[in-house]
Amino acid sequence: MPYRDTLVTCSVCGRSFIWTVTEQRQAAEAGQPLVKPELCPADRQRDPLTGRWLGRIKWYSSEKGYGFIIRSDGEEIFFHRTGVLPPGPAYLKEGTPVTFEIEATPGSKPKAVGVTLAGPAPLSEEEEGEAGGGDGEDDLA
Ligand SMILES: [Zn+2]
Repeated sequence: MPYRDTLVTCSVCGRSFIWTVTEQRQAAEAGQPLVKPELCPADRQRDPLTGRWLGRIKWYSSEKGYGFIIRSDGEEIFFHRTGVLPPGPAYLKEGTPVTFEIEATPGSKPKAVGVTLAGPAPLSEEEEGEAGGGDGEDDLA
């Protein structure tokens, strides 16, 4: 199947962007249908209803109190446990889908704040205690 860089207009911000041959090939290799994207790469990372960013937990260390979220465009965003909404960071396992906002502070790297689960929480209250003590590194002293 021939791939070609294609100019597309974003349906959210109206900017033009290139749907690249690389993206098309990646989609094909991942077994996804080759459908022209409607959103530019930046807007594709956002929830169209709330404007919040979407990503997955790359890792979180309860010892260090921080971790990283990875967006689907590969960008990694730092977050601190104080930037996590209740019920807190204990549920932030690797790969957990989350939504967040990005706080840009002059002179420092952007960080994710208001981090919360994307969609319903995967654990009921009964299961929570068990799931938290799985890896033996959860000493919340
Ligand atoms: Zn856009």
